[in-house]
Amino acid sequence: MRDLRFDNRFVRELPGDPEEGRHVRQVHGACYSRVEPTPVRAPKLLAWSREVADLLGFDAADVRSQRFAEVFGGNALLPGMEPYAACYGGHQFGNWAGQLGDGRAITLGETINPRGQRWELQLKGAGPTPYSRSADGRAVLRSSLREFLCSEAMHHLGVPTTRALSLVATGEQVVRDMFYDGRPRPEPGAVVCRVAPSFIRFGNFEIFAARGEESLLARLIDFTIERDFPELAQAEPDPARRRIAWFEEVCRRTAVLMAHWMRVGFVHGVMNTDNMSILGLTIDYGPYGWIDNFDPDWTPNTTDAGGRRYRFGHQPRIAHWNLWQLANAIYPVIRAVEPLERALVAYADVHEAEYRRMMQAKLGLADWRAGEQADDGLLEQLQRLLQRGEMDMTLFFRRLADVDLEAPSLAVFEEAFYDPSARAAVEDELVGWLRAYAARLRIDGVPGAHRRAAMNRVNPLYVPRNYLAQQAIDAAEAGNVGELEALLEVLRQPYVEQPDSERFAARRPDWARNKAGCSMLSCSS
Ligand code: AMP
Ligand code: MG
Repeated sequence: MRDLRFDNRFVRELPGDPEEGRHVRQVHGACYSRVEPTPVRAPKLLAWSREVADLLGFDAADVRSQRFAEVFGGNALLPGMEPYAACYGGHQFGNWAGQLGDGRAITLGETINPRGQRWELQLKGAGPTPYSRSADGRAVLRSSLREFLCSEAMHHLGVPTTRALSLVATGEQVVRDMFYDGRPRPEPGAVVCRVAPSFIRFGNFEIFAARGEESLLARLIDFTIERDFPELAQAEPDPARRRIAWFEEVCRRTAVLMAHWMRVGFVHGVMNTDNMSILGLTIDYGPYGWIDNFDPDWTPNTTDAGGRRYRFGHQPRIAHWNLWQLANAIYPVIRAVEPLERALVAYADVHEAEYRRMMQAKLGLADWRAGEQADDGLLEQLQRLLQRGEMDMTLFFRRLADVDLEAPSLAVFEEAFYDPSARAAVEDELVGWLRAYAARLRIDGVPGAHRRAAMNRVNPLYVPRNYLAQQAIDAAEAGNVGELEALLEVLRQPYVEQPDSERFAARRPDWARNKAGCSMLSCSS
């Protein structure tokens, strides 16, 4: 397997923990602790992303070599790798949780690919670090497969996300109490290699603010701008104005990300500030889920079932709350309230504009009309009907392009209904809505074929539905990764109807309605 070129700026330019070893501790005055992955018994490559391999400069022969499994399972290092675990804190479910840090993630290094792009390689499930607290530093196959699959699916859907290079089985068992019912059982372990320009989170800044380590806070901010926002560093030479421009950009990217999640029906499940990427990427795939029947109140995370803080429809507001925490954290360096507040107000404006723009495209409208023919009203009414009618979000929007505008009916939506009585309750109103929609489209006057093609480019047919991921997990645990490969293959082109792939477009089957992993997930991973 070929070597990669590394340029490890994070460990080179920022202060590290002087203490060595993996023992659990509070780490002060440092951004990271140097720690190597703990070797595993029998690393074996289960799956990989050819797009990410290509991005890094690996070919198929590299990936299939045993050395690849050794490196990306945590048993060997490539020349130039300088592994570390980052120190960060976070607000979990609304409360300050103190030091968290990479408890099972270990960054191997920052590689510069043949195109000159910087990519951080990070193993998840690579063994204990100083930030592991009471946990084991490992990850089970089911959660690793979910992270691997969804990262790549999100990328192909056009949603900003961290990527995944590989899924490696460790040949070791990991004990987890999946249902938190006091009956832990051993499960196969795995390691994912995640890839992103940066894994810095809101929590990396919050920890220094909480501890009053202000000079370190300023260093990390300026480092982040220089390494991860080079366009800002160039455009704004004044350090104070540059930091404000940076926060504005973080707000903007987060607003765009939330609009994407809402348009595809993704529910993150654990939007704690330590799970918020400073680059505005989807990060830390845990008990996430995909909306089947449209329901803004739904959350897949059983740990959050009580308050539903992180439910689907609440995500944009939670991101805003998280940005407030980031603003509070960086205030000691910015020392001005007004520009931070302005950026937070702009967040809501950007989010609304982006959300509208995306929904306009999903509906196939040529523009967004305010006032008398208000499209806001059309959208709101539709969402109420989708919820009451328990309609599948993905299938509804995909089939919407096929509605006959001359004689609108529910014929094209047969597969999108989950429940006959919920359907009966909305049937008439929905047909009424379709007539209003058809009338609205006639105002645009866009030729039908043109509009349908445009709608199909933004309304995916295939998303990594929870039950599909669970089927891939069940097969992989039984030793068959073919199911995962087939699913990933289809998800590479989520907007293109593919032959013999109907089963990957099907709505959630009845058996999956209340099955663990399909509609409910715990944080146990
Ligand atoms: P999460 O909510 O999954 O993003 O994790 C919150 C914190 O717990 C992070 O600091 C993780 O690194 C840590 N953590 C989660 N699972 C483990 C584990 N199995 N071993 C060590 N640390 C973990
Ligand atoms: Mg996390």
